[in-house]
Amino acid sequence: KQAAYAELRAVEPFSRDGTRIQVMMNAGLRDDMASLPIVGADGVGLFRTEFQFLVSATLPQRERQTRIYRDVLDAAGDKPVIFRTVDIGGDKAVPYLDSENASNDENPAMGWRALRLALEREGLMKSQARALLEAAAGRSLNVMFPMVSEPWEFDAAKAVFDGQLTFLKSQKRILPDSIRYGAMLEVPALAETLDILLPRISFLSVGTNDLTQFLFAADRANPKLAERYDWLSPAVLRFMRRVVQATDGSGVELGICGEMGGRRLEALALLGLGFRRFSITPVAVGPIKELIRKVNLGEVRDVMNRLLAAPTGSLRAELQAWAEQQGI
Ligand code: PEP
Ligand code: MG
Repeated sequence: KQAAYAELRAVEPFSRDGTRIQVMMNAGLRDDMASLPIVGADGVGLFRTEFQFLVSATLPQRERQTRIYRDVLDAAGDKPVIFRTVDIGGDKAVPYLDSENASNDENPAMGWRALRLALEREGLMKSQARALLEAAAGRSLNVMFPMVSEPWEFDAAKAVFDGQLTFLKSQKRILPDSIRYGAMLEVPALAETLDILLPRISFLSVGTNDLTQFLFAADRANPKLAERYDWLSPAVLRFMRRVVQATDGSGVELGICGEMGGRRLEALALLGLGFRRFSITPVAVGPIKELIRKVNLGEVRDVMNRLLAAPTGSLRAELQAWAEQQGI
């Protein structure tokens, strides 16, 4: 297995017609960073910061957070890291918030979690903002907010960072060289207000794990539903195509960071819809880079448009047949 990784590490993900696709990886622990040079990803497109909050019995101290984020940036070197602020609450319950927490939410995935919780627990959000700003002193910082449902939530979250930035400035502390903010698109409602959101952000990342459970009203953790809905269904694909169209020309970098992007046929479909940035589980980085090199983007765009014009059920079988015909 190691040998296979080594072989794919240096593969540059250019499509057959010469477009460089960005293939980044998802991470959540300091140790995950060891995979970055092994798989040869372009950076970390999703660093799930909640992991350290979930393994801790008490709210992690700011200094500890700073140390971890700094180590992550050190490990990434010149490659970008997108830190996602905490997505705790809901089904990812933590003991130190338990008294008022969502473990008793009837629908935890749709409950008091992620940004919803962080915006009300300002102390938690402030300490994370400060830790990230301090860790990135003298370098670039990319911050992404989870479960943004309406543009004002993005504004409120960014205001917490601005507040901490003002404080650090007043203390004459070294600041990040640049700070870029982005949002996850995982609540379908946000797609309807992209015209309002896009001018405020630098990047947008579609979280298909949550997005599809909300699109289909189907719990992502319920095994009885696991096989029922296909990522290659017209509903998901048309939704994704609309997001690409809404983002095109805005200057906002669009990517995907859900598990969908790490699967072969799904990645092929996403290339056809216009996605040019993938952040995926480390083991998928090599195989997806290899796939990209076999794909002509114009051809897969045409086939996706054709299949989506008059779809029957899932497009999986048809796309699979086309891919085989093409030797992909
Ligand atoms: C997603 O929802 O697609 C996502 C990437 O975030 P998470 O899996 O951490 O909820
Ligand atoms: Mg999510």
